[in-house]
Amino acid sequence: MDEDNPPQSRLNLTTRRTSNVWKDFDEKEDGVHCKKCDQVFAMRSSTTTTLKYHLQKAYQHTKERQQEKTFEKKKADELVARFISRNCLSLRIVDDPDFVALLPYLRSEYTPPSRKILTNDHFPSL
Ligand SMILES: [Zn+2]
Repeated sequence: MDEDNPPQSRLNLTTRRTSNVWKDFDEKEDGVHCKKCDQVFAMRSSTTTTLKYHLQKAYQHTKERQQEKTFEKKKADELVARFISRNCLSLRIVDDPDFVALLPYLRSEYTPPSRKILTNDHFPSL
């Protein structure tokens, strides 16, 4: 056994760095930063347990989202654009409070495209 270079500590470091949790955090000089919300954790208290707990509390829906990864905002925008176009609806529908309320209710992070985005990005290609 070589006392100056104990293989055990190297192993621990490797395990820590490859833990799944580290893909969501950056280690910087002032602590560990959450990549999603930039909350900073003091280096000393940042065991992977703390970080995992933060992810679980703050992003409870992350797992669900991964399972529904077929959802893409771009695709949803296209469907909205197609819906408006094929039904000859006014572009004003994207400003309609009921329509604006409907989509985020179905998918909390989704907000329909603005009229400008629809006109510039979607309708030319329809
Ligand atoms: Zn966070």
